[in-house]
Amino acid sequence: LAQVVAKSAVKLGIKVLVSSKAVKFEDRNGTLHVQVDTPEGEVRIEASNILVSIGKRPSFEGMALEAAGIRVNAKGLIEADDTGKTANARIFVIGDASGPPYLAHKASYQGIQTALRIANGKPSPPAPIPLAVFTDPEVASVGLSEAEARALGLKVLVGRFPFTASGRALASRDLDGLVKVTADASTRRVLGVGIAGPNASDLIGEACLALRMGATVEDVSATLHPHPTLPEAFLEASEAALGQAIHILQRTPSGSAGASA
Ligand SMILES: Cc1cc2nc3c(=O)[nH]c(=O)nc-3n(C[C@H](O)[C@H](O)[C@H](O)COP(=O)(O)OP(=O)(O)OC[C@H]3O[C@@H](n4cnc5c(N)ncnc54)[C@H](O)[C@@H]3O)c2cc1C
Repeated sequence: LAQVVAKSAVKLGIKVLVSSKAVKFEDRNGTLHVQVDTPEGEVRIEASNILVSIGKRPSFEGMALEAAGIRVNAKGLIEADDTGKTANARIFVIGDASGPPYLAHKASYQGIQTALRIANGKPSPPAPIPLAVFTDPEVASVGLSEAEARALGLKVLVGRFPFTASGRALASRDLDGLVKVTADASTRRVLGVGIAGPNASDLIGEACLALRMGATVEDVSATLHPHPTLPEAFLEASEAALGQAIHILQRTPSGSAGASA
């Protein structure tokens, strides 16, 4: 999925260096000189501005957590069990203070679930946490990636559907990207969905519901979607996992092009 964004960035004239590390910079009369170690050797880049978008660390300075009986672990995060209960059983941790992923919808959901647990001891089971990256095109995912599912020893069906084959994407000339569905090969349950392309952050909502409800790729395939719309790409990626997508060329799942077992 990231490759879709990288290709789009290159089309926009952006130079992308992967597996590389910016090691230092110098300000020479207002021009910034950045030194980058790349697999091909050292590269020097001249720039007017530098944006650093990595690097986050917890900071509870001055909050006297220990006075409240709350402990912090070796990573600097608040120590808690998987319900968020801290070393002080009357205090729960939610949101960014509970550790990654650092996402607003995760924080909000955790807050509501923790309040329910405290009020009546009945929170909902944990829900899959989607993530969206507002790049151009957007990227969004929920659940397990194909690699994560395989690393867990699961046998998977994988279906891909490119936006080049979507009538709606064609009409709006937004053709970069694809929907990828990973499903359990025996139960056919959707394990994860990744989308790179137009409105990916909106499209992932339907996949979140599919995962939450334990839907199979057959369930998604048997769900009528209005035409021509972008969510049809999720439907067809699910069909592709079964070797049954209509608007792309594919062989059967056993020897597959769009689908792979
Ligand atoms: C620039 C930026 C962009 C982001 N974009 C996204 C995005 O697109 N999507 C997404 O899902 N997430 C995004 N996030 C992450 C998201 O904002 C956080 O994950 C989310 O706000 C965490 O919620 P929280 O309640 O844990 O913490 P916060 O929202 O940080 O709330 C903590 C609150 O506690 C208050 N506070 C702090 N110290 C004290 C104190 N000592 N006493 C009393 N009050 C205190 C703070 O003022 C704050 O109001 C972004 C974050 C940043 C910084």
